[in-house]
Amino acid sequence: MTAERSAATYGEVVERDVVIVGGGPAGLSAAARLASAGLAVTILDEQPELGGQYYRRPAPAVARHWGDHRPEGGRLIAQVRAAGVECRTGHLVWGVDDDGRTLLASDDAEHPVRLRARHLVLATGAFERVFPFPGWQLPGVTTPGFAQHLAASDHTTIGDRVILAGSGPFLLPVACSLIELGVRVAGIAEAGRPYRPSLRALGTLGHPARLRELASYAARLARARVPIWQETVVLRADGRDRVSSVTLAAAARPTRPVRTVEVDALCVGYGFRPQTDLARMLGCEVRIDVASGDAVPVTDAAGRASRADVYVVGEAAGIGGVHAAKARGLAAAHDILAREARVAVPVSEARRVASARRRLERFTALTDSLYPGPAALLATLAPALPADTMVCRCEAVRAEEIRTTAAGSADGDLNATKAWTRAGMGPCQGRECGFAVAGLVRSVMPRRGAGDGESRVEVFPSRLPVRPVPLATLLELAGPESQKGDA
Ligand SMILES: Cc1cc2nc3c(=O)[nH]c(=O)nc-3n(C[C@H](O)[C@H](O)[C@H](O)COP(=O)(O)OP(=O)(O)OC[C@H]3O[C@@H](n4cnc5c(N)ncnc54)[C@H](O)[C@@H]3O)c2cc1C
Repeated sequence: MTAERSAATYGEVVERDVVIVGGGPAGLSAAARLASAGLAVTILDEQPELGGQYYRRPAPAVARHWGDHRPEGGRLIAQVRAAGVECRTGHLVWGVDDDGRTLLASDDAEHPVRLRARHLVLATGAFERVFPFPGWQLPGVTTPGFAQHLAASDHTTIGDRVILAGSGPFLLPVACSLIELGVRVAGIAEAGRPYRPSLRALGTLGHPARLRELASYAARLARARVPIWQETVVLRADGRDRVSSVTLAAAARPTRPVRTVEVDALCVGYGFRPQTDLARMLGCEVRIDVASGDAVPVTDAAGRASRADVYVVGEAAGIGGVHAAKARGLAAAHDILAREARVAVPVSEARRVASARRRLERFTALTDSLYPGPAALLATLAPALPADTMVCRCEAVRAEEIRTTAAGSADGDLNATKAWTRAGMGPCQGRECGFAVAGLVRSVMPRRGAGDGESRVEVFPSRLPVRPVPLATLLELAGPESQKGDA
């Protein structure tokens, strides 16, 4: 089946065997396998190039001068194109049509596209988990992922003297990337205490490849004499036109300063949250993960969601790193091929992928157990957040307004707080502030949810459009009648 332009629907209509949203490691792995078996596959990504976060392509000038930092990503993309996958980069999938199965997208030139398929694969990845603090709006304060992009894709540094803070293993490779570019990493403030001998940590011995990766980061950080301050969080950032110093506090007493360090950049992130807005809009069942507070799609081992025509793979299905993302993409491809009954997947291949997926998921569970659960961290950080801290930057809503509104609402409902304060209603749709808003709401409603996982954090509902689109796109998709006006 091929794409066609329909005068009746005002927009290109694409009908395929499989439509994949997200051209990162998970989506690419699924696409390559499905197309090589003869299925008609379209992959869409809002970015101008395929690759996603991990295989993001370096800028051409950087590639010419420094080479490709992740050549395996380039090879996977080439494989996808060679297999005949229709690649629609610069295409944002921003909603679902009223029929509940047609995806609504538009390209860089704002041309609307409707896509239908027998199988939808959502490989929409993750976004960084942030938590505000006084001074987080200052220039020079970013997330670790942004610093990593600048370093890996553009060979550009975020600053000369940097502190990384937050929690999770991602802080380590980011610090190493910065060091390679000559940045002085003044320290890593980790909210938990994962780097200490423990019986649990011994479990990593069962994953030698991952352990080697970790050991290489540790060795590079030790050579560069980077201190790691455990059980430490950011209290505030100060500076006039740009961040010039960071004050850190003990994680257990986040209002008490323990040290101030001079820097010209600060990167703070608490790991990643699955991007599930499209899955939720398609009506796929989600569960709230007690440890993270995130909405995680309910899927089987192959990534099949509660709707049989939808698969959720990669980090959209749960945070697990690039290797797990690829294994999940392949597992979904195998399941689709089995259902299509066109090509038999060799038993050895299916077993290899399934066992890799299980092994990587065990490793993720082990890693997660070494770092503090985000929901528990939030329960400590949210009550300590100063009243005038800007929480929702899109709509300029401060901590106190959220607390007061939540305290005044009958049941501390997250969505009611959003409606009253507008927190989470801006262009990012709560991706930046949602975690903190949920924590603030819970901090004034301590008894809510007791017995249902004390650390539970709710998420904002998914709304159409999932990202801002021009009004003209909405009107064009609505059809010619909507553009005539009332006259
Ligand atoms: C900012 C950031 C930086 C990261 N950097 C690293 C790193 O350096 N090293 C590392 O090991 N891990 C990194 N990660 C973790 C990393 O995401 C994964 O391990 C891996 O890339 C997951 O693969 P994926 O295919 O599931 O998702 P991703 O690689 O995130 O790919 C998802 C793709 O879906 C696209 N997409 C999402 N929603 C839509 C939509 N509605 N319409 C169209 N396209 C859409 C996105 O543009 C993206 O290209 C990073 C994560 C983030 C959020």
